[in-house]
Amino acid sequence: MRISLTKFLLSFGFLIVLQSFVSMKPAATKVIAHRGAWKNTAVPQNSLAALQHAIRLGCYGSEFDVHMSADSGLYVSHDHVIQNVPIEKSTARQLAAVKLPNGEPLPTLEAYLNAGKKQKKTRLILEIKPSQLGKAHSLALTQKCVETVRQTGTRRLVDYISFDYDVCKKVLALDPKASVAYLNGDKTPAEIKADGLDGMDYNQNVYKRNEAWIPEAKQLNRSLNVWTVNDKAQMQWFMERGFDFITTDEPEVLLELVRK
Ligand code: MG
Repeated sequence: MRISLTKFLLSFGFLIVLQSFVSMKPAATKVIAHRGAWKNTAVPQNSLAALQHAIRLGCYGSEFDVHMSADSGLYVSHDHVIQNVPIEKSTARQLAAVKLPNGEPLPTLEAYLNAGKKQKKTRLILEIKPSQLGKAHSLALTQKCVETVRQTGTRRLVDYISFDYDVCKKVLALDPKASVAYLNGDKTPAEIKADGLDGMDYNQNVYKRNEAWIPEAKQLNRSLNVWTVNDKAQMQWFMERGFDFITTDEPEVLLELVRK
């Protein structure tokens, strides 16, 4: 009995040591599909179909862009103008006529979040697009986005990103628990931390010019995301440096790399 107890304690100790080695291993880089998974699936960017493909692939996140119409409706689209219709200067009636090439209507933010919340594995990475009509419109859009996320019950599934730093700070003022990352590449990790943002999500060239920001961000416990990395060698460069996320138009390629 005594021997088996000793054996048990030894094995238990071994397991604890093993566990600590496992936890020392950096977490694998997570895959974010840029505007959904559209490129290899031949569906339109930012469509519900592209979101569904990102979910089916098992991406950590699916990114999409949001604008506000003249009558305060929220729509998912990358560009300010879609099929010659300027979103910010159009009404719901005008935008209802817009059909994506796969026949979907132009998705509203509500429809997009409702589709995304049917599952829990793939996060919804909501980019608030700076308005061409000025800061007030951008901040009004921000308010509506945070409200819509609350109303659809998707707070726990949504992370926010924006090129506009004031938009990032407004999201946090409206929902202090929100995860927010800044896109424009002109803030240091210390500034990002001081303003309570979760992390940075910069163009790959910004990190190449400011490599010291990578260890700084880690030391300050800020998340590191990079866009838009479609080249395998570049994906590996960021994976080797322990990036938390890579945003890509080639989620299939990156998923294969991170799962190796
Ligand atoms: Mg975007």
